[in-house]
Amino acid sequence: MTRRVILAGGGHAHLAVLADWARAPMPGTQRWLVTSSRFTAYSGMLPGWLAGIYQAHDLLIDLKPLAERAGAQLILADVVGLDPARRTLSLSSGEEMGFDLLSLAIGGETDTSALAASGDRLLPVRPVGAFMARWSNLLEAKTLAPVINVAVVGGGAAGVELALGVDVALRNTFRSYRVSLVTPSDGFLSGHAAQVRKLAIMELADRGIAVHFTQAAGEDNGLLLASGNFLPADCIIAATGSRAPRWLAQSGLACNEQGFVAVGADLRSTSHTEIFAAGDVIDRSDRKLERSGVHAVKAGPVLAANLRATLSGISLQQYQPRNRTLYLLALGNRRAIASWGGIVTSGKMAWRLKDWIDRLFVERHRMAEFNLSRDERDEKVGISHFA
Ligand SMILES: Cc1cc2nc3c(=O)[nH]c(=O)nc-3n(C[C@H](O)[C@H](O)[C@H](O)COP(=O)(O)OP(=O)(O)OC[C@H]3O[C@@H](n4cnc5c(N)ncnc54)[C@H](O)[C@@H]3O)c2cc1C
Repeated sequence: MTRRVILAGGGHAHLAVLADWARAPMPGTQRWLVTSSRFTAYSGMLPGWLAGIYQAHDLLIDLKPLAERAGAQLILADVVGLDPARRTLSLSSGEEMGFDLLSLAIGGETDTSALAASGDRLLPVRPVGAFMARWSNLLEAKTLAPVINVAVVGGGAAGVELALGVDVALRNTFRSYRVSLVTPSDGFLSGHAAQVRKLAIMELADRGIAVHFTQAAGEDNGLLLASGNFLPADCIIAATGSRAPRWLAQSGLACNEQGFVAVGADLRSTSHTEIFAAGDVIDRSDRKLERSGVHAVKAGPVLAANLRATLSGISLQQYQPRNRTLYLLALGNRRAIASWGGIVTSGKMAWRLKDWIDRLFVERHRMAEFNLSRDERDEKVGISHFA
């Protein structure tokens, strides 16, 4: 009997699954990749794109050749509903698809609920492709304006990197501009070492970026801060963290209170054995795991192995993150802050390392288009010299 396997979303973990399918046959299966867009953006390079260091194509991975190599049919549509009991997915095209095995790597949505009143001025960072298109249009439209005010809301790594990237972008285009970062103080680089926060604050101050440690609500012409002050803004970039798509919690699939899919260490849904998930869309039932690209990437091989294991009825692997993770915070000016546990450094070397790691990730998946083995790909992109 042929079993129907669907990958929903072109998230990081599914890149590893597609590579796995391309490497070894998946007998007795029919396979699909259903995703919003043919290109998936590597968001770690987005601040560098804003700063003019990368071209758009540097951070986009074309899913079409990867799906072809993997023997999966690519369907460009949003998943808008799930019925785990009937094992069906509803698509934005109106189509319904049945599955025997489903994997979700659809990431999260930007939570813009507090900012919605800002209307057209609001620029959510996700979907990344839409963000890039709208930012480019905005720069073109505003080039003749005497001054431009951009506010970034959200003090996580993404918000800080975006504010610093925007600063470079505007410096290169406008004679007069102002960049502000708005974040509650407990949300500023939370989870990062104190020394990282200190270095980031110093960098923001040196670059003239005003940091408002407060909550903000969207208004017609800008942001109303909890302090009572009004911050005028032509553009409000929302980097306000991930929200789970609403249809997940409504589906009957086990989810946490915020609607993220509850999975165990094996990335399998805690309520439905034929559903797996990885990346920003999950909530681990066994431990707290922050939402980051690092975990989305590293979970990929485990997810690939577990989809195969489920089809063969053998035992599953667990994704156990390392105790320490290397964090690299781009500063927009070819410098970065690197931290590994309590060890923190900043400067050009840290940027070179981030640039190398990020380019390598994207390049590896480009190489997969040519069906090279991992060793051959590593050889081609020069990783073997660093291994
Ligand atoms: C500016 C910025 C910088 C960042 N920098 C870093 C960094 O340096 N290091 C780090 O570890 N993390 C970083 N992050 C966080 C990181 O980007 C996320 O944790 C990571 O992208 C999550 O990966 P994912 O695979 O879960 O989802 P995504 O990367 O969001 O991928 C989701 C995929 O699913 C598709 N999709 C979405 N919804 C649907 C739907 N309903 N139906 C079908 N397809 C759908 C999308 O098109 C996309 O292909 C950064 C984030 C931002 C915003």
